[in-house]
Amino acid sequence: FVTKAYVAAREQFALFREPASAEQPPLVYLDSAASCQVPDTVLQAYLTYYQQGHANAHRGSYPLARHATAQLEGARQELAAWIGASPEHLAFTAGATHSLNLLAQGLQLDWQAGDEIVLSRAEHHSNFLPWQRLVQQHRLQLRWLDLDPRTGALEENWRAAITERCKLVAVTLASNVTGQCLPVAAIAEQARKQGAVTVVDAAQAVGSVSLDVRQLGCDALTFSAHKMYGVTGCGVLYLASALQEKLEPWLLGGGMVTEVTEAQSQWMSGVQQFEAGTPNTAAIIACAAAARWLTAERAAGLSDYLLDLTKQLRRQLQQRQWLQLLPPQPSDEGLPLLSFFSADVHAFDLASYLAEQNIAVRAGSHCAQPLMNFWQQSAVVRVSLAAYNTAADCERLCAALDEAYQLFTDAN
Ligand code: PMP
Repeated sequence: FVTKAYVAAREQFALFREPASAEQPPLVYLDSAASCQVPDTVLQAYLTYYQQGHANAHRGSYPLARHATAQLEGARQELAAWIGASPEHLAFTAGATHSLNLLAQGLQLDWQAGDEIVLSRAEHHSNFLPWQRLVQQHRLQLRWLDLDPRTGALEENWRAAITERCKLVAVTLASNVTGQCLPVAAIAEQARKQGAVTVVDAAQAVGSVSLDVRQLGCDALTFSAHKMYGVTGCGVLYLASALQEKLEPWLLGGGMVTEVTEAQSQWMSGVQQFEAGTPNTAAIIACAAAARWLTAERAAGLSDYLLDLTKQLRRQLQQRQWLQLLPPQPSDEGLPLLSFFSADVHAFDLASYLAEQNIAVRAGSHCAQPLMNFWQQSAVVRVSLAAYNTAADCERLCAALDEAYQLFTDAN
């Protein structure tokens, strides 16, 4: 492995500063697609908020509460600009799953039996189950954007699946299993032509791809902070103005009403109506700090570094005849993650062996069973790279995989 000029940001993460232990080899963390580790500056922003600026935002008029409100709204402005949106289009949620349920339960699109919802075969359960329930509730039709089984890219004739019967398209920006990006701007354009709304799940892409909702042309987009070096408990939800008109609040409670009487209540206008309850201000502030950090690391070459390291790892894995990558003919574009399986050694055995070597990967169906069914696999191993990973990590992974193969096939 030969790496590009970017120097892996290991020193900024407490976990990787841990002194070597006699009991186990150093940690190789290859599960950032599930949750990234959090750099010091992001944790500092979180801590400083609690130490110096904590109060319930949008509630009190005393200086500390006003300060908390200002910090929250500052983070909204910053994160909106980060994805090419304006602050009045940005709502905070608890995460991408929360956002997608909020959309599926709140969107008033005058659903009629037989109306169609289009999803891609690559969706995470969070962008499938809420729509599946809606389909059952209103007797709608679900249609799939299918994939080419060799390359995993959308089938060439995908546009034919988005017809005038379609009211909503919900697609992931990139698969959390293969790392492949979908042509979301083109999908949103086709949806718009047919009068349908487009919802984008950017949960997996956000840590690796710069987002611009203007360029994507979508009506709604969401992601979770913990997949972009932020902390858990914060989701960002972009809602275009026209979509807000069609969205009823899903969660009701404090902070989203103008007037409440025994008989009737009036919701606030704008994104606040979708933010019932006390916001997770510390996590939101940390999310803005993570966006700042990520922008700086990208400027220092992070994206190319990871693309290159992933490409080299892909080549290394492809040399191992006993492993099969998903898709079988992967592209060198996409997110810094790879999934594979073996006919000889079960994915859980591989992951368990790696765990013994203190190499963290994830095995299973990755909350994407429709995609796994498509490839007729029940479990695959996924390795995902992030700013702290190095060539040495990839070498340790490859060596440990070879050992695992020897061990499990010898035992047969
Ligand atoms: N969509 C995709 C593509 C994901 O990878 C994930 C996280 N695994 C989610 C949605 C859900 O994100 P969260 O668990 O943070 O709500």
